Amino acid sequence: MNILKDKIRSEGIVLSDQVLKVDAFLNHQIDPLLMKHIGHEFAERFKNQGITKIVTIEASGIAPAVMAGLELGIPVIFARKFQSLTLKNDLLISKVFSFTKQTESTIAISARHLTSADHVLVIDDFLANGHAAKALIDLIGQAGASVAGMGIVIEKSFQDGRALLESEGYRVESLARVKSLANGQVEFLDD
Ligand code: 5GP
Repeated sequence: MNILKDKIRSEGIVLSDQVLKVDAFLNHQIDPLLMKHIGHEFAERFKNQGITKIVTIEASGIAPAVMAGLELGIPVIFARKFQSLTLKNDLLISKVFSFTKQTESTIAISARHLTSADHVLVIDDFLANGHAAKALIDLIGQAGASVAGMGIVIEKSFQDGRALLESEGYRVESLARVKSLANGQVEFLDD
C-alpha cells in the first residue's frame, strides 16, 4: 500500500534495528485520511467472507480497526489491557507478552460481545513475533468463534509473527511489510 509506505518513509522513526516509531500518524497522533485508506484496503482484502466482527487490542489497533469496521459495516471490539470497573463479569481473558514494553499483561473482552456464531477479523497496528495476535485468537477461541484472518498495518517481516500464524493456518494480510530496519533505514519487502 504505497500511501502507507510513503508515510512510513517520511514520518517513521527507526528507534533500533527492531523497533519503528510511527507516533506521527498511527500510535499517538492519528492521520484520519490515512486510516480511511487503511480501512478501505482491509475491507477490500476481507470482503465477502462472512465476517461478522473485528477484534483488536487497545490502543493503537483501534483507529485502523474502526475504519475497517466502517467499510465492512460490522462492529469492532477492542480487548482491554486493564481491568476497568465496568468490565467485570463474564470476561474472556488471556495473557500477552508486550514486544515494546517487554512485560506480560492481561487482556480481556466481555463475553457478551462475541458468540460462537461470529466469524472474526483480527486487526492490529504491528506484527512482530505474533504474541498480541495469538492472545486475540485465544480470546476468540474461548468464545467459540472462528477466525477469518489477520489484518496488520505494519508487519516486521524479519520477526517471526507471520511464520507462526501461517504455520497454524491463519491468513495474514499486511499493508506494509518491513524487511529491515538496519542502519536507521526502513526497507520494504517489495521495494
Ligand atoms: P507482537 O505481539 O507481534 O510481538 O508485537 C505486536 C505488538 O507490539 C503490537 O500490538 C504493537 O503495539 C507492538 N509493536 C511491535 N513492534 C513494534 C514496533 O516496531 N513499533 C511499535 N510502535 N509497536 C510495536
